Amino acid sequence: MTPTDCVLTIGSYSDADKAALADAFGARFLVGPADIAGLDQATRDKVTAVAFKGHHPFGAAEMDLLPNLGLIANFGVGYDAIDVAAASARNVRVTNTPDVLNDDVADLAVAMLLMQGREMAQASDWARSGQWAEKGEYPLNRKVSGGRAGIVGLGRIGREIADRLAGFKMDIHYTSRREKETPGWTFHADPVSLAEAVDYLIVALVGGAETAGHVSAEVIAALGPRGVLINISRGTTVDEEALIQALSTGKLAGAGLDVFLNEPKIDPRFYDLPNVVIQPHQGSGTVETRAAMAKLQRDNIAAYTAGSALLTPVN
Ligand code: NAP
Repeated sequence: MTPTDCVLTIGSYSDADKAALADAFGARFLVGPADIAGLDQATRDKVTAVAFKGHHPFGAAEMDLLPNLGLIANFGVGYDAIDVAAASARNVRVTNTPDVLNDDVADLAVAMLLMQGREMAQASDWARSGQWAEKGEYPLNRKVSGGRAGIVGLGRIGREIADRLAGFKMDIHYTSRREKETPGWTFHADPVSLAEAVDYLIVALVGGAETAGHVSAEVIAALGPRGVLINISRGTTVDEEALIQALSTGKLAGAGLDVFLNEPKIDPRFYDLPNVVIQPHQGSGTVETRAAMAKLQRDNIAAYTAGSALLTPVN
């Protein structure tokens, strides 16, 4: 069968992205992987590529409903929702959208770190609620520049974060599976030793089973009552129960979180913690970057349909 008989598009796309997918591939739109089962067999037989977006699991069961599937093109660098082993076993290629989002995600990590140190949300409330006029100067907070920052996972995004924080004259520490070439940053073989050495711990790991709970209760304890945790990776990488306990009992100073378990219905205890900056998983959420991600996803589908080398293959 010829590729591109049908491209299924799964997830919530902007109108512009929908139009571009429809123009390029005549793509048919679904809401989530569960909707594949609702298609008739003749349609499912035609599907050779899926443009995938979102965090609902796309596993063996969904792939088996599409007997001629050859490509899953993920919208996003993190592809932990897709069972890549199941895809490889079925000779299905997977692509993602690395690099084009590094700047935005790194910017958001740094912004959350600054918000924490300088208590910007609380200070804004102080002014808006009239307390500035009534009570005067906002209480002093914490200097960020020159502090000690630890990156958990010095990959593409982790390195962008480190580069930015070096610009804030911070002392950069990191942990990765092996030591890397860096401009004088300090390598730690494990996250506990990293957490002990820093004031701010920024998590930039891949998600998935292999990194689940990597930032454990022990790591959080090592970061300590002056420590701030920033997570832009996936909710799974941090022991969320240990994090909430430490934040509620003063064993951790604060957190800046873009990712959580059970998004978007996150643990409601976070809402009552004034020392947490909450972001609704919007690391790559700018008009410019989402357009670049959508283009890279389409370019991968186009390469597949043309029989050319995939631009950013995962398997
Ligand atoms: P990357 O370049 O592949 O870096 C991933 C990092 O994870 C590397 O440091 C890598 O370690 C580490 N890692 C991978 N497997 C591991 C394992 N089994 N045990 C321990 N460490 C492991 O990926 P990236 O492009 O920087 O993206 C990182 C993640 O950020 C994505 O996977 C995604 O989950 C998340 N993300 C979030 C947003 C958001 O909106 N918040 C947006 C984009 C991405 P080594 O350094 O040893 O290779």
